[in-house]
Amino acid sequence: MSTMALPYREPLVPRDPGDRQIPEPPRRGEPGGPPCAICAGKTTSAVWSDDNWTLHAPVQGSLPGAVWLASRIHVDSFADLPEELAADFGRVAARVERAILALGDVARVHLYRWGDGGAHFHVWFLPRPLGMLEASGMALPIWEDVLPNVTDEELAAAAKRVASMM
Ligand SMILES: [Zn+2]
Repeated sequence: MSTMALPYREPLVPRDPGDRQIPEPPRRGEPGGPPCAICAGKTTSAVWSDDNWTLHAPVQGSLPGAVWLASRIHVDSFADLPEELAADFGRVAARVERAILALGDVARVHLYRWGDGGAHFHVWFLPRPLGMLEASGMALPIWEDVLPNVTDEELAAAAKRVASMM
């Protein structure tokens, strides 16, 4: 982790967090919030699926090979998954990881489950480019945000290559 670096020049100036917003605004797919985009089919269509999961390409991203995996059922987080699905997540996550690594030029696959945007279980799989040590650990999603986006077509094509190796 010692080589990790943020994609900004120094000096960064620390700042204090703002006032807390309690209660927090409802998320997509939660009571009082906007409809669930995943259930409504308003996301990229699945590049791969089985009885429990669907796999999707991102849009407006900078890392070809990035994908997100969603449960077919609308539940919020790990704590809400039926035990059978929670166990099956390990199986499918390993398959996604192997498929992304098979793209080549990937050092490691990072998993992120944020849950702050939508209340439908989904986990991000981001490929850390081989040799890009400054994007180690928590720096990768920040680099992903700052690097120039590639086209959505390129992201979709890479996700389909991942799907073909599932
Ligand atoms: Zn949903």
